Amino acid sequence: MSYNIAIDGPAGAGKSTIAKLVAKRMNFIYVDTGAMYRAMALYLLREGVNKEDTGKIEEVCEKADISISYKEGEQIVLLNGENVNGLIRTEEVGNMASVSSPNPKVREKLVQLQKELAKKTDVVMDGRDIGTCVLPDANVKVYLTASVEVRAARRFKELTAKGETCDLNQIERDIMERDERDMTREISPLKQAEDAVRIDSSELTIEEVAEAIIALCK
Ligand code: C5P
Repeated sequence: MSYNIAIDGPAGAGKSTIAKLVAKRMNFIYVDTGAMYRAMALYLLREGVNKEDTGKIEEVCEKADISISYKEGEQIVLLNGENVNGLIRTEEVGNMASVSSPNPKVREKLVQLQKELAKKTDVVMDGRDIGTCVLPDANVKVYLTASVEVRAARRFKELTAKGETCDLNQIERDIMERDERDMTREISPLKQAEDAVRIDSSELTIEEVAEAIIALCK
């Protein structure tokens, strides 16, 4: 039986940084499910699909083959065979992902892939519905959060470090909007699983959060 750690939480809570570190320390594979939804969003944007057009999203998503592979411990997302890692971290793609991810067809495809990965491998998987839907029997479940201000400031730092020009207030608004959409959608909304441990990372270092999670695995 594989060992599964599920980490859920809102945008910018530090899930991927923490999950990556925990995976490295535990010698597990890190599965970034947000990257899969982002790859799907990139495909929809490339195909010129209108955000509001649910029918078109359903039709077009069928043509996207999304898979992941690993290179030197780094997850690579393949969209119809193309490595799209460098193209999915923009706010435009993130916002499209948040709009297209509630679509049942999109979720069905990606959740199946996520379940298969976790069945055969020890994983740290992060996302919005991992503890509640994808891996309800995960060995350890964490709900990682932080204040909106802290999360916006982190995102701002991350984007400016990559040379993107952005506005802190706009990022804060986008984060609040994204949280609202992710938490109120009908299918698999973001919420803390009953048996998840809640960690607020606003005042904690990366190291402290990682250690707290690793301690839960003992
Ligand atoms: O975590 P990240 O910001 O990369 O996720 C982008 C979007 O993908 C989220 O806002 C959410 O709408 C969607 N997502 C999801 N379920 C997951 C992971 C991400 O719906 N397990």
